[in-house]
Amino acid sequence: MTKRKLVAGNWKMHGTGPDLGQVTAISIAAETAGCDVALCVPATLIERAVRAAPGFAIGGQDVHAMDQGAHTGDVSAIMLTDAGARLTIVGHSERRAAYGESDAAVRAKAEAALAAGLAVILCVGESLAVRDSGQAVATVSAQLDASLPQAGGGPSLAIAYEPIWAIGTGKVPTTGEIADMHAALRARLVVAYGEAGKLVRILYGGSVKASNAAEIFAVPDVDGALVGGASLKAADFLPIVAAAG
Ligand code: PEP
Repeated sequence: MTKRKLVAGNWKMHGTGPDLGQVTAISIAAETAGCDVALCVPATLIERAVRAAPGFAIGGQDVHAMDQGAHTGDVSAIMLTDAGARLTIVGHSERRAAYGESDAAVRAKAEAALAAGLAVILCVGESLAVRDSGQAVATVSAQLDASLPQAGGGPSLAIAYEPIWAIGTGKVPTTGEIADMHAALRARLVVAYGEAGKLVRILYGGSVKASNAAEIFAVPDVDGALVGGASLKAADFLPIVAAAG
């Protein structure tokens, strides 16, 4: 099934007020792009980014599973929507590693975000040791099964397959490896959601840049990309957007 691709940028812990010009430039180009475009910026920038780029999809990078409470430093889904965010990333490998986020915690975050009306990009991916052991597809499939929201198939959910060893390293799996993983994840989504599982976009993430984007987007069941480093500057990000359209 052909879906409109989604190219989402993940700014991670980068960006302050002077970088809002990049948001504006990306948002203007997104108006005529042949794909959906979004930027997940630091929480401190969400409201200003929404003001700088009205109508453009700004997202958060994580969300707490609860609406409110004694959770110092965390941000809830209703806070993200209140700031104007339309989506959020959950389960990024950097958060799974640094904060010990379990699949169950990621599922709870995804469910809270969807319930608040946010679209969700749910990340899964294997370590290099798992890839080298030949267990990548089995491991990531199990991670997906355990992280998926109970009810959530459809266009408001996207899965980002991000091999941990490819993030920020310049290393990228072969197109065959990406195809095998995305086909396996699609099968799991259909088991979980039936027909609605076919509407979930499966993004590839990990060292996507202008020079490899077209080749990656041509892989079956690659419905877009989650882009880290190359999303910080419009000059780097927009060629990737163009390759998806
Ligand atoms: C990411 O961390 O989500 C990511 C894909 O990073 P990069 O594009 O820099 O590899």
